[in-house]
Amino acid sequence: MIFPSIRSFLAFTYTIVVVLIISVLGVGIQLLVENRLRANVNADLNRQAQQISRFIVNDVDTDLTEQINRIVEGLNIAGTGSDVTYIRLYDASGLPMLFPEQQPSIPQASPKELRTLKPNTPPQTEIGTNGTSLLVLTRRVSYHGQTLAYLQLAKDLEPINRITSQLRQTLITGIILAGAIAGAVSYGMAWQALKPFSEIVEDTEQIGVNDLDRRLPDTYGVEEVGRLARSFNALLDRLQRAFNLQRRFVADASHELRTPLTTIRGNIEVLLLDPDLPPSTREALEHVSGESARLSRLVTNLLLLARADAGHRGPQKSPVDIHGLVLETLRQIRPIAGHVHLELTHEDQAMVLGDMDMLKQVLLNLLDNAVKYTPNGGHVYVGIYQESGWVVIEISDTGAGISRHDMEHVFDRFYRSEKTRQEATGSGLGLSIVNWVIQAHGGHVTVESEAGKGSTFTVHLPLAPDETSAFLTRA
Ligand code: ADP
Repeated sequence: MIFPSIRSFLAFTYTIVVVLIISVLGVGIQLLVENRLRANVNADLNRQAQQISRFIVNDVDTDLTEQINRIVEGLNIAGTGSDVTYIRLYDASGLPMLFPEQQPSIPQASPKELRTLKPNTPPQTEIGTNGTSLLVLTRRVSYHGQTLAYLQLAKDLEPINRITSQLRQTLITGIILAGAIAGAVSYGMAWQALKPFSEIVEDTEQIGVNDLDRRLPDTYGVEEVGRLARSFNALLDRLQRAFNLQRRFVADASHELRTPLTTIRGNIEVLLLDPDLPPSTREALEHVSGESARLSRLVTNLLLLARADAGHRGPQKSPVDIHGLVLETLRQIRPIAGHVHLELTHEDQAMVLGDMDMLKQVLLNLLDNAVKYTPNGGHVYVGIYQESGWVVIEISDTGAGISRHDMEHVFDRFYRSEKTRQEATGSGLGLSIVNWVIQAHGGHVTVESEAGKGSTFTVHLPLAPDETSAFLTRA
């Protein structure tokens, strides 16, 4: 059987065990009581049979028919009530004799049965002629080895049956009640015992990658859970150390890579200034220049990522001219745009308070994607708008577009769609950096796209306070 929880499993098992134990005990008590009551009836029947036998033997010369009335009177056998004893008498040949005052309830035995009767045969349960259940004792009455008569005595089993049936009812009710109580109590106990585990799960779920320095409290009150919390904390220690090492490595490596990359790019720019360069060399140098620009963007992304994870460097804010920044970025992207047309469609002036390097990286990432995912001959449009307290930068392309499923994940770290994974180079970092930087500036970025038709990324950044008031006055 499959249980939805450990609690229900424990409660179920405990209930079954309790019900089984009480049932076995109950059946035992029932059998014991029933046997005891029957033994009493047996003893009564045997005693009375002996008395009657003695009575007949003592008066052996009197005809049996004449003795009958005296037997009934003398032993006060017949009557009503719960303790009735029935009697039947048979002559020596096994033929029944009639009693004057009482219709015998005992079913009549055949002469053959009586003749083959063994001594000390225990009483038998039989259904009487009036339909009641009887315990019937049959005895041969003999004198000096000669059979004088056969005697049958019976008692009604109804009182015993009534007692045992009452006992059974009480036991069944007791078992049901005990089962219900055991179920409720064991479920409550299991719930109470497992509560600290639920708490530890809740606490653990709140620890994310960015707060690995948090630890579980050692206040669960149960030794086992306390140990679990301590070993979980030790695991967090090791995890945090490993994460810190990795972050430091990414930060150091990307920092170290920046300097040689800047030198390479500077030297290429100088070489490209030579007007006498053969066309093939120029083409090769331009290609190297474009790729090293991409490499340096990747390195910057990695550096920003390491800083974001370390959480110790937010944007260093100063007034940034968005229009100027967009123009500069477009200039930087143009060499790698190939045959994709870059157009500035709308250019409001706008100032924001922000980190220029980070914002430039945002624009580079968005424009690099737009160019990368748009085939030759396609277009990339850039627009800058001021809208009630915000500067809106819109970058749209006529490229591959993004499927509905991918759209939910493009801002996730390291996410790349299946298709672009096969067709274009990339790291899956660009858009997660864009999202992080824009949010760190109090803005937001959204995407609209249709697969095969193109995509539009829209960045909203709050205008610098002065600029905002200037805008409001103008409006
Ligand atoms: P990558 O290095 O792969 O470009 P990004 O984080 O910049 O990583 O982008 C994540 C994914 O989003 C890309 O792999 C690509 O599938 C999709 N994507 C981003 N920009 C565009 C775009 N302008 N057109 C089509 N798909 C895009």
